[in-house]
Amino acid sequence: MKRSLNDYRKIVGDEVIGEIYRRARKLYGKTAVHVNSTYYGGGVAEILSGIVPLMNDIGIAAGWRMLRGTPDFFNITKKFHNALQGNSINLTEIKKKLYLQANAAFSTYSHITHDCVIIHDPQPLPLIQHYPRKQPWVWRVHIDLSNPNKDLWEFLKSYVLKYDVIIISSEDYRLRDTPVEQRIIQPAIDPLSPKNMKISEKDIAKYLKKFNIPTDKPIITQISRFDRFKDQEGLIDIFRIVKEEVDCRLVLCGSMALDDPESQQYYERTRRKANNHIKNRDVILITSENNILVNALQRVSNVIVQKSLREGFGLTVTEALLKKKPVVASNVGGIKMQISDGETGFLVEPDDRKAFAQRVIELLKNPSMAKTLGENAHEVVKKNFLITRLLRDYLDLLQDLIG
Ligand code: UDP
Repeated sequence: MKRSLNDYRKIVGDEVIGEIYRRARKLYGKTAVHVNSTYYGGGVAEILSGIVPLMNDIGIAAGWRMLRGTPDFFNITKKFHNALQGNSINLTEIKKKLYLQANAAFSTYSHITHDCVIIHDPQPLPLIQHYPRKQPWVWRVHIDLSNPNKDLWEFLKSYVLKYDVIIISSEDYRLRDTPVEQRIIQPAIDPLSPKNMKISEKDIAKYLKKFNIPTDKPIITQISRFDRFKDQEGLIDIFRIVKEEVDCRLVLCGSMALDDPESQQYYERTRRKANNHIKNRDVILITSENNILVNALQRVSNVIVQKSLREGFGLTVTEALLKKKPVVASNVGGIKMQISDGETGFLVEPDDRKAFAQRVIELLKNPSMAKTLGENAHEVVKKNFLITRLLRDYLDLLQDLIG
């Protein structure tokens, strides 16, 4: 069902809603277009499916386009994604060529007449060179850019420099070698989306049954694309340690994003590693894309984990915190902005599997501690990480650029 800003009154209050309408008034009739490379299966798609309709609801004609690419293109951009987060890459001329070609092709049939263009992440970054400069272009980068591969960054920088503004998620990601205005806007989640809205116990039970997830033991869950940076393999080791002390189940739920050709392979690796546990359903792997299932899983779990090695922001953490769940997560990237250790969850160094397991065990054994952390976390999310705050940040940005 279509959501409108008014629906959020009961969650954030009239002041916040009134302020958004006030700021939007100065932008009536303006047009903006977002471009990314997948409609589902990751944080960017999640944010856009919430924010784009809301922009339209308050009088800004916002569009959303998806860059089409071949499997080759997505293979390359996935390598770019990994290398921008610190991996090495063999940056050949053919890779550069295929990357640029997909962008050039898109520009031939995708006309841009909007007042502002917002490009998400590296896949559509070079589009900027195919259009006459008539409006501000914003590069919204969602990943952790604190340690990018040097060669790749040099190559991409020639496009990045053309942008009017870069939006990053954290001060830690500031591009010190890039003389382009950089603003920090933290991501946010939509409390009324199917993934986050309140659902009944009956619906939770129905979805767990449909996906064959028993509830006779405590459940630990990670919701994440199957990806080496999400480190599902590391979680299997942690689960083994936890299971020696508390009999429980691990659910790993991760759909395969359109723009992520490595996920199938990584999924297979995880499956092989967890093989014995999968046979007796102590580890359950799910690859379906289903928002209500994610919602149900987050609500039914005793502990939510996020074992990422890198994390631009980590909306899955936000989603769990909103649902008052105790979270044990790696002390990396955007997760650090969301959890304060011991108050709203637990942070653990990503290579310390023992400590990670200990925190999970602690929470499984101590439900009242889990409850307190979850309640504290809920308040933090309500204050800082809801889509209404993100909408206001976007309005401020648009006001400065095209108001
Ligand atoms: N997600 C989902 N199904 C899955 C895996 C992930 O709906 O099987 C969603 C998840 O709930 C979250 C987003 O995709 O909203 C992932 O965002 P996050 O910032 O955590 O990570 P990213 O995938 O962008 O690296």
